[in-house]
Amino acid sequence: MKQQVLVDTIAAISTPLGESGIGIVRLSGPGAIAIADRVFLPKKGKSITGFKTYTTHYGWIVEDKRSKAIVDEVLLTIMRSPRSYTKEDIVEINCHGGIVALRKVLELVLENGCRLSEPGEFTKRAFLNGRIDLAQAEAILDIIKAKTDYALKVGAEQLRGGLSLGINKIRTRLLEALSILEADIDFPDDELGIPQIKKIKDSLNDINKRLEELLRGAKTARLLREGVSAVICGRTNVGKSSLLNALLKKERSIVTPIAGTTRDTVEEVMDIKGIPVKIVDTAGIIRPRDLIENKAVRRSKRYIALADLVILLFDGNRKLSAEDLRLIKKLKNKVVLAVINKIDLKQRIQRSVIKNSFQGVIDISAKKNKNINLLEDCIANLAQEGKISIHESASISNLRHIEKIKKAQKLIAEAVNSVDNNKLLHSEYVCQDIKDALLALDDILGRRFSEDLLDRIFRNFCIGK
Ligand code: GDP
Repeated sequence: MKQQVLVDTIAAISTPLGESGIGIVRLSGPGAIAIADRVFLPKKGKSITGFKTYTTHYGWIVEDKRSKAIVDEVLLTIMRSPRSYTKEDIVEINCHGGIVALRKVLELVLENGCRLSEPGEFTKRAFLNGRIDLAQAEAILDIIKAKTDYALKVGAEQLRGGLSLGINKIRTRLLEALSILEADIDFPDDELGIPQIKKIKDSLNDINKRLEELLRGAKTARLLREGVSAVICGRTNVGKSSLLNALLKKERSIVTPIAGTTRDTVEEVMDIKGIPVKIVDTAGIIRPRDLIENKAVRRSKRYIALADLVILLFDGNRKLSAEDLRLIKKLKNKVVLAVINKIDLKQRIQRSVIKNSFQGVIDISAKKNKNINLLEDCIANLAQEGKISIHESASISNLRHIEKIKKAQKLIAEAVNSVDNNKLLHSEYVCQDIKDALLALDDILGRRFSEDLLDRIFRNFCIGK
């Protein structure tokens, strides 16, 4: 494990590029204040090097302090080490938001000794300098990328240290169990009494319960980060577009629709009970009649293959058609929510066929907005109960937590098994399991890490964070 030596000072534009009221150029590192001093002309005072921490100063960024050629009028804030985001000296320059001004200010600080930061490098430094642990660093990414209020709340709780606190409590319990067992190894003649064996067993069972809670939390976090991808499927005229519209009318759409025609696919990301759900209305054509339809069908098939959940829609007003039956058969292996639409009309559909094929059926009317709420509850419940497995993606954070927690659980289960079977005759095996479980938890917090792991986590950040 290599500890990075951090001596250079990094800089980046920390706000989105484009026209805006203000934009921020951020510097972090031992040279931050000296470098900023070379390009900043304060209205009051000569040099910023003597300015106190957490103070903001009005002035100008200049190309050269002697010629006083002004680049922008700015506010400059100083945060001295160690009480800053990175624990290093930080200078933030609030410029006018135009891209040219921001780039110029960045160029100037780079010319004067800064290095352009890598993605997530400010947060990486906060981690390497011990201000936050790895789970908290990952939480910052979750907050930046949060698509729903609920996702934001979970991210903020993790940043505040909720996950870390939970892990540390389990660590303490593991260490307690370890100390009893190690005493047994050190003094093998003093056999562990039944009360002590019981204490260890209780403790391991309690740890297991806590790990289970942790796992649930990590799964929820993953769900919120990745969202659920769902497709609305069904033959033409069952009401797919109407359903998408009914859902959209109620829910705040997170992303503007991707253009498509009725023959194509329409995609929306919406907030359903706090879970980001990407819903695609597929073309609904099963047998293409021409080239365009052929293309649309191929695309629909791809969407269905990739979807975590299929909302299969039927028209309650009509008898099941051959196409309906084909769809039922085709989707047997997917997670399907069977929905009968148009319940405001006379019902002619053979419900029993659908009921026999899928676990449950929901009745709705997309046009009359009936039971849309119920449908949303079902989607959210399926997701929260872990019945929808989320597709793998580039993000590893929560997946990493899930893997490590599962590993710790397995080790603790083995330890419990050893205690049960061997009556602690082999304390050292139990000790080893507990130690390995501790290491798995340490990995979540980043007490152990490899450069490769850090690279994989921080490359998901943007430059300037
Ligand atoms: P799609 O081809 O599956 O996208 O179906 P559409 O959403 O375009 O709907 C087809 C027709 O069914 C339209 O005339 C809708 O107004 C109608 N429709 C959709 N949902 C309902 C419903 O719940 N009740 C009734 N009565 N008509 C509906």
